[in-house]
Amino acid sequence: MYLLENITMSEFKKYIRNTKTIVFPFGTIEEHGKHLPLNTDTFIIYEALKLAAKMKKFFLAPVVQYGVCTTTKDHPGTISISPETLRRLSSDLVTDAYKKGLRNFLLISGHGGSLHMSALKETAEELIERLENIRIAVLSPYDVLWKELSEVAETPNDSHAGELETSIMLYLAPELVKGRSPEEYPAIPKPFIVKAKTKYWPGGVWGNPQKASAEKGGKAIDLIVNKIIEIIERIEKIK
Ligand SMILES: [Zn+2]
Repeated sequence: MYLLENITMSEFKKYIRNTKTIVFPFGTIEEHGKHLPLNTDTFIIYEALKLAAKMKKFFLAPVVQYGVCTTTKDHPGTISISPETLRRLSSDLVTDAYKKGLRNFLLISGHGGSLHMSALKETAEELIERLENIRIAVLSPYDVLWKELSEVAETPNDSHAGELETSIMLYLAPELVKGRSPEEYPAIPKPFIVKAKTKYWPGGVWGNPQKASAEKGGKAIDLIVNKIIEIIERIEKIK
């Protein structure tokens, strides 16, 4: 497993002969209801990528722990960064990895927030123009597996700290799941951007954690790991 944080300079020089692919994972410190840790998005994506890295050779970078949170930004515990910071940071990381010889870049996020994802996509658009001969993908498992994952969960429209994320945490790290928050959905009146976000969404849950199980979490993780491997294989074939 080519875990960037653990390998040496000589190992890097050796392994880069085998692969020019690197995955940069992105997470958040964000409220996930009363029952899941603030680190949930980060933990899930890094664990899924480590499982994928056991089966397929690619460089796996450490997670960028902070992300852009909007609807949850006022909830206790959430520590967010701005889209501008995320754009500059992700752009710097890819640019320097490019200088070290890497050519295929996957920016994979455990957080599916729209401003967060659009910041990463803006970066990718800028990079594909600026760096010669690169291939780049930006994704969150919840985008690319929307249909498959919604078949694992019974709750329609399950999104944040609900049935799916709770199930995955029960499968990966049950000791980090502290009971279950009640079913809840945000009541922010569309299409308005409101300041008092916690007033419309006090519990910070979008879906039904009560329906979660480790078994569903295992199915979701299998889908995510296989999809990541499939996308890496596809990016390496692009001419
Ligand atoms: Zn999450």
